[in-house]
Amino acid sequence: MEKRRILVTSALPYANGAIHLGHLVEYIQTDIWVRFQRMQGHEVHYVCADDTHGTPVMLRAEQEGITAEALIARMHEEHRRDFSGFHVEFDNYYSTHSPENRELSYEFYRRLDAAGLIEKRAIEQYFDPVKNMFLPDRFIKGECPRCHAKDQYGDACEACGTTYSPTDLVNPYSAISGATPVRRQSEHFFFKLGKCTEFLKRWTRSPGTLQTEAANKLDEWFRAGLADWDISRDAPYFGFEIPGAPGKYFYVWLDAPVGYFASFRNLCEERGIDFESFTDAVKSKDHNTEMIHFIGKDILYFHALFWPAMLDSAKFRTPNHIYAHGFLTVNGEKMSKSRGTFITAESYLKQGLNPDWLRYYYAAKLNSTMEDIDLSFEDFIARVNSDLVGKFVNILSRASGFIVRHFDGQLLEPRPEAVGSSVEWAATFRAISAADEAKEAYEAREFGKGIRAVMRHADRINELFDAAKPWDLAKNSDPAARAQLHSVCSDCVTAFKILTYALAPILPVTALRVAKLLQLPVPLKWDHMDRFSSKISPYQHLMTRIDRKQIDALVEANRQSMQPTPAAHSPQRHAEHQIRVEEKVEIAPTIGIDDFGKVDLRVARIVNAEHVDGADKLLKLTLDLGGESRTVFAGIKSAYDPETLKGRLTVMVANLAPRKMKFGVSEGMVLAASGDGPGLFLLSLDSGAQPGMRIK
Ligand SMILES: [Zn+2]
Repeated sequence: MEKRRILVTSALPYANGAIHLGHLVEYIQTDIWVRFQRMQGHEVHYVCADDTHGTPVMLRAEQEGITAEALIARMHEEHRRDFSGFHVEFDNYYSTHSPENRELSYEFYRRLDAAGLIEKRAIEQYFDPVKNMFLPDRFIKGECPRCHAKDQYGDACEACGTTYSPTDLVNPYSAISGATPVRRQSEHFFFKLGKCTEFLKRWTRSPGTLQTEAANKLDEWFRAGLADWDISRDAPYFGFEIPGAPGKYFYVWLDAPVGYFASFRNLCEERGIDFESFTDAVKSKDHNTEMIHFIGKDILYFHALFWPAMLDSAKFRTPNHIYAHGFLTVNGEKMSKSRGTFITAESYLKQGLNPDWLRYYYAAKLNSTMEDIDLSFEDFIARVNSDLVGKFVNILSRASGFIVRHFDGQLLEPRPEAVGSSVEWAATFRAISAADEAKEAYEAREFGKGIRAVMRHADRINELFDAAKPWDLAKNSDPAARAQLHSVCSDCVTAFKILTYALAPILPVTALRVAKLLQLPVPLKWDHMDRFSSKISPYQHLMTRIDRKQIDALVEANRQSMQPTPAAHSPQRHAEHQIRVEEKVEIAPTIGIDDFGKVDLRVARIVNAEHVDGADKLLKLTLDLGGESRTVFAGIKSAYDPETLKGRLTVMVANLAPRKMKFGVSEGMVLAASGDGPGLFLLSLDSGAQPGMRIK
């Protein structure tokens, strides 16, 4: 077998949020594939990094009152902790905010510029006059020019699906400050992607490079024509300043994929690997090295167009394969914070759930297509409990007891003729055919198919074990019965061992525990699975079943009440690229009538309304509740002139605990509607309502 030399990457998670179960679909499948290749004896370097640059990180750091560097350092530690908790074993987990990445990004830029592929020209863009910054598309909102849905982002309408440019929006506003943006000119740098069209057409159709469905998607883009790509952003921006262009920064998507190389270069320096033998256009061919990217299907545009075009034009090697996968849904729906199905990696581990359970479940659902995969809790519990514990672990827990109690832990070497039952018996206990099937499936990223082959085999072993009735044989002191007991149980353990090797890329920790019990040499090598090992240790618990209560607790821990999200938190599209996130505020979890009854809502007349000295947002309201008077500070100054409020009726929460504020004590709350955009709407009552009336 020829030893392959492979550089493997997973997409870089964005440094402004936690790792969640949606992200893990990608990291777990890449890790399984990498572990499988390593078991085959291949040289694999698996690298990743945090994607740290851009406006969302800058704004979030600002909001937290810390530097961007401090924010990304904290995120880096959290991300590392979460990946390692799920046994995703990178050779290097680095950062795009690194000296290597700066240097490599400059190198790319210089080479693209020298090839005549960089062009500068002035463009007109929206500028936030309050924040003093140009606004990225996702930070401008307004009315859709086609269907006139309100509060749509600057790049596409979520109501009718039209894409457009931010300057097409009707009544645009800054999602950061709420201000009306102004148009302003600025010089931008463009990568002339269109000049790479011929190369890209060839590359995307070279065998095995892309999944067919992905290549078809690219054809659509080719037909539409490849526009120049804007690779610069104006200050203030968290990123790398473009050499010789003060105040201009590389757009985050320019340096993010370069981050694969930066992370790898950092690893090469540490381990003495020849960087260029993997990255240079010529040397990588001489050394026959491979480069493979695992990504989510939503970032195909960046990985199958921009990135290979940059690589080829700058004389670097291009990827051999881009493996795109689908999104995660939970119980058939998008992940949702209010339903508690937006589950973080950290909370899964904190609730004491076994990471191997999720690895197994994802693997069982994964194939080589870009289809979405669903995490159904019922199915998750059933598969782990019945397949993994009930079928797989069950073999060892039953057979090993007899071996330890009756035969001092010594196994018999498999001798099909000694059992003599049937050809099937012998074939089953060889188990190698299942491992061969799994091998072929894993290589092709058909993980579900591999698992099905293993579990079919586990079923047969359990059936034959039951048919041999070892518990009866154990009561019989006749030497022939003893010999048969020894043989049956030895065969079961040996077959179990082979299945363990076949599942080891998916269940790394469980496999190591088995290795200890069966006294197997580690790390486990695929071609060692056939070697006979003669002695086993007493059985120790390998894996528990999932208790339904654990899942309920996990969902409860991730359930968030309805909190309007400040606009500045809106993720840039790629920040949440592994999953579908609901962006509209959802209906809060169901409550009983008793919960509702605790809130005492009353009709109130606004007797007086006035400005508060030194308060930007507040009005001071004096309310009449039918004889009783209350003072309430309400954050409605942006929407109402106090004079217009005097005398009108509205709705207040009358039994809210008084709250001491800077300007005085607020004795309740008036109710107003609001959405993501500006605008506040006080509640009104139909005529006839009287102050003090209860609302129920
Ligand atoms: Zn629309």
